[in-house]
Amino acid sequence: VTTIDELLAALRQAVGADQVLTDAADKAPFLTDWRGRYVGRALAVVKPDGAPEVAGVVRACAGARIPIVPQGGNTGLAGGATPDSSGQCVVVSLARMNRIVTVDTSGNTICAQAGTVLQNLQVAARDAGRLFPLSLASEGSCTLGGLLSTNAGGTAVLRYGNARELCLAIEAVNAHGEILGSRGGQLQGLRKDNTGYSLRDLLIGAEGTLGIITAAVMKLFPLPRDKVTAFVAVASIERAVEFLASAQDRCGATLTAFELLSDAALSLVTHHFPQYRRPFAAHHPYAILAEISDHDEAPHASAMLEQLMQSGLDQGMIEDVVIAQNLTQSKDFWALRDHISEAQAAMGQNIKHDVALPIARIAEFVHTAENELGAAFPGARVINFGHVGDGNLHFNVSASVGMNNSEWLTHEAAINRIVHDAVASCGGSISAEHGIGQLRRDEVRRYKPVTDLTMMHAIKQALDPAGIMNPGKVLGEESP
Ligand SMILES: Cc1cc2nc3c(=O)[nH]c(=O)nc-3n(C[C@H](O)[C@H](O)[C@H](O)COP(=O)(O)OP(=O)(O)OC[C@H]3O[C@@H](n4cnc5c(N)ncnc54)[C@H](O)[C@@H]3O)c2cc1C
Repeated sequence: VTTIDELLAALRQAVGADQVLTDAADKAPFLTDWRGRYVGRALAVVKPDGAPEVAGVVRACAGARIPIVPQGGNTGLAGGATPDSSGQCVVVSLARMNRIVTVDTSGNTICAQAGTVLQNLQVAARDAGRLFPLSLASEGSCTLGGLLSTNAGGTAVLRYGNARELCLAIEAVNAHGEILGSRGGQLQGLRKDNTGYSLRDLLIGAEGTLGIITAAVMKLFPLPRDKVTAFVAVASIERAVEFLASAQDRCGATLTAFELLSDAALSLVTHHFPQYRRPFAAHHPYAILAEISDHDEAPHASAMLEQLMQSGLDQGMIEDVVIAQNLTQSKDFWALRDHISEAQAAMGQNIKHDVALPIARIAEFVHTAENELGAAFPGARVINFGHVGDGNLHFNVSASVGMNNSEWLTHEAAINRIVHDAVASCGGSISAEHGIGQLRRDEVRRYKPVTDLTMMHAIKQALDPAGIMNPGKVLGEESP
């Protein structure tokens, strides 16, 4: 393949003419990200069905040296699935590859194609009497391939781990258009397989820069018999972290969620989504959404939760608590948590940070960053929330009242420097669960050790020597 026309003909041959979109209006939804921060261009959007078709697409693009941008549900928050503005790449959408292949209740695994939407995986597992625990606010749209490629986290990491920890096997197409991971189209999800380098683990978190994931086998778990949820008011981050330790001590592995919401985050949700009410009349600096999932019959979990809350109140760790009395109330609590991103989007552009910290230093980070931001940008509003049980905060900074969005975004580099320097000084990471994409590509060079970056470039060079897999994402052009 040498010309664009020849490439388009080869793509049509690989996936069928109606699955190669070249019309501007058809391509548009694939060319911008969920936040509307990035807009790119592409020669075509291609929608293969099955690993052999993906392989055909990659071979056609490799022959023409045309870059490929893999895309799942397009809900990523780091711009990883959006092409650049050159118009010289092909977006490969996995949306049609949405079949659940097998649910194995004896091995406790589920095998599905990469374009399967997370909610459909959860439902298939539940229908088989099992739990697929990965859960995030974008679960109605994000896909298995995207979740693995960003090593997504979400609200159940505390108990079940992130996407990497839930994955047993991956089938993928490499940068040469060859299928790896499966034999004769069959993908095994072995719990033990120590036969050399883990290609699965290289592809997880690679954000499409090393290959295209086409299917995966994921772990399933027994369905809990009972679940109880509480909304807890705390006076400070320090108290929240203290209460986390107490909750882990008392509840062990039954503690499945421990989410933090600042009062500002809560107010934003109740303002933009008035159908959801704050559980307490009074304003407290922070709230925690805690959940216990139990394999004993009711009322074991409720009794455990009540004891935990009573001891928290007695010891002055918590200020107030509301325990959900039924499923509807529990869903309403979760809705408050799950609508923060949408409420922020409604508020206008904000400068987002998805950071991980050692739990013992979370409070130190928050105070340092808030003080320095306050000094440099008086009136800047911090919307702080996150999966505090995993040491993961979403520390988002919005403009001071009266400053318009575009003016605010001119301060992005300075704000990132304050927040990320505070993260680094507390021994944290500048990306906890959203990945690097294009948003953090330059920033990561500043904070990751040079030896680590050099090895990442060497891996990229070995697996994708022509540099066609999602170029410009995760890594810069030059090795440091
Ligand atoms: C409201 C909201 C809440 C969110 N909450 C969370 C949260 O709590 N935790 C969390 O971790 N994330 C969260 N996210 C981010 C996002 O949903 C996750 O990153 C998700 O994993 C992305 O899946 P996707 O299918 O949409 O991937 P996309 O956005 O399509 O792609 C993401 C990256 O993966 C690559 N990719 C996609 N599919 C493949 C494939 N098959 N093979 C190779 N590369 C591929 C893309 O090139 C891109 O680099 C949230 C997003 C939103 C909008």
